[in-house]
Amino acid sequence: MGRVAYVNGQYVPHSHAAVHIEDRGYQFSDGVYEVCEVWKGQIVDQTAHLDRLDRSLRELQIASPMSRGALSQVMKEVISLNRVKNGLIYMQVTRGVAPRDHYFPPAGTPVSLVMTAKSVSSSKTDHIAAKGVGVITVEENRWDRVDIKTVGLLPNVLAKQKAKEAGAREAWFVDKNGLITEGGSTNAWIILKDGTLVTRPANHGILKGITRGVVLKLAEMKGFTVEERGFSLGEAQNAQEVFLTSASGLVMPVVKINECILGDGTPGPMVQDLRKSFHDAAELIKL
Ligand code: PMP
Repeated sequence: MGRVAYVNGQYVPHSHAAVHIEDRGYQFSDGVYEVCEVWKGQIVDQTAHLDRLDRSLRELQIASPMSRGALSQVMKEVISLNRVKNGLIYMQVTRGVAPRDHYFPPAGTPVSLVMTAKSVSSSKTDHIAAKGVGVITVEENRWDRVDIKTVGLLPNVLAKQKAKEAGAREAWFVDKNGLITEGGSTNAWIILKDGTLVTRPANHGILKGITRGVVLKLAEMKGFTVEERGFSLGEAQNAQEVFLTSASGLVMPVVKINECILGDGTPGPMVQDLRKSFHDAAELIKL
């Protein structure tokens, strides 16, 4: 059997999975999403991801598609139907299908829920991490509510494409104060020469990454000094080590920012260690 997707109550072949053309996610980006890692047959940080999904839905006044228990069941089913041991699960909830009109549809309009899962070779991601990645900087041009994980990702798409065309993997948004906010799909970190870990506080201007939260916990376990504050491009280019975090890339070393090669251009030991021990601090739920 090939890939299977969950679409509004049904498990369907991935190649035929579809939502209606008047789905508000399609027409207005009126929806939210989550991506969780599947690692060695376990769901990583499910509780934190579903807590964030609830928050995103609440902030946008979109109803929850189903109870947490039911959602967990669908997640398990999608992962097992796709035989994913290592990979990613994606879920998206939109305000549902209704005749195109900016106003919210009538109360009681069912929300849409779509879920997919795919295998990702961990050796492929590890290979990228072993070399480290490049980052470019772009002007922050997103809306004020990037703390909500909406499917409205056009600025992120354009920034990441620009990075790709420049031979980099990620684009960092820089705010009007000259501080890095975050990447197109990752949070940004630096380690200073004295070993202090620095990352922007998650109260404004960034998505509060679940991986970010786990790395903060891991850093505490390892006795790092952590400063949650903004940092500039210059500070990053002069840092000891630099990295990105996300559920799909975990802890990803950065070896180049714009034209500046960091250190000897290879991932440093602290970032490599944080990457290696990441799952020690994560919540792991067996399928
Ligand atoms: N920032 C943005 C803009 C993202 O899209 C993501 C990934 N979804 C992250 C940060 C990292 O979040 P997480 O660690 O929860 O994957």
